[in-house]
Order: sequence, then structure tokens, then C-alpha cells
Amino acid sequence: MSHTYLGGCEHVHVEAVADPIDNHVCHCNVCKSVTGQQATHVAFFRHADVRVDHPERLKRQPFNKDNPDGPLELCTCAECGAPIMLDDRQKRIRAEVPNLMGFDVAGFPQATYHAFWDETKGYPRPDDGRPVHSGLRPDFTWPSGA
Ligand SMILES: [Zn+2]
Ligand SMILES: [Zn+2]
Repeated sequence: MSHTYLGGCEHVHVEAVADPIDNHVCHCNVCKSVTGQQATHVAFFRHADVRVDHPERLKRQPFNKDNPDGPLELCTCAECGAPIMLDDRQKRIRAEVPNLMGFDVAGFPQATYHAFWDETKGYPRPDDGRPVHSGLRPDFTWPSGA
């Protein structure tokens, strides 16, 4: 059964019309620097499953400022600066950070594993029972782009 998840800000509304295809707690350094959180809940949706009512109000910047030609762009609201989504220039996925991008966290599916954790993080390996991987889960496959 799939659900609809609503996010965004008062100027740009986001609707995810199907469940995430990947749902993880991210420990990567890019998420850390962008969100200021030690770990960030990130949900990947199929690109076509995330709808935005006012894409013209989005400001786009490289998600990884050290890799400006990378595929992921952080989209923020041009009016209020709220983070809205990560958009993939190759149109494979759109990613949402539920607690920062306006979603109802209580109604959002929990992350199923930890991604991008390794010994260099300087804090203990997560021990909440969910699998811990040094990248995305090994069985994740990127959808083909549009
Ligand atoms: Zn990350
Ligand atoms: Zn806004």
C-alpha cells in the first residue's frame, strides 16, 4: 500500500505520491555540512513520484559544494530559503530530508538502515539494530533516468 507524503514550505508544496525506494540514516560528510546534523534521515523517491507545485520558485545549488558538477542539486525556496528537496539532474531520484523539508515526521516511514558510516566518523557505530553500511545498501539500484 502506498501513501502520499506532503512537504515543502508555504510557497512551494511537495507531494510524494508513492513510498520511498530507499530510506536511510545518512552519515556522509556532505549531509553533515548541509544539515548541521550528525546523521540525517534521507528518503529517495522515484523522480516522477515527487511533484512540486511551483518549481519556478526554487533556487538550485550544488548539493556538494566541493563537487559542483555532481548530479544532485539542493533546491531551496527562493522566497523563504527553506530546503525543499534534492533534485537529480539525471532525473533518477528526488530526495527528501523529512525533518528539514516540511514533512510530518511522525507519519513518515522510518529509515531502514544506516548509510555512509565508517571508522573515521569519530563516534560509535550505530547500534539501534538497523544494518550499518559504508555506502548505500549494497542491493540498492538507481532507477534509470528520464
Ligand atoms: Zn548523505
Ligand atoms: Zn518558502
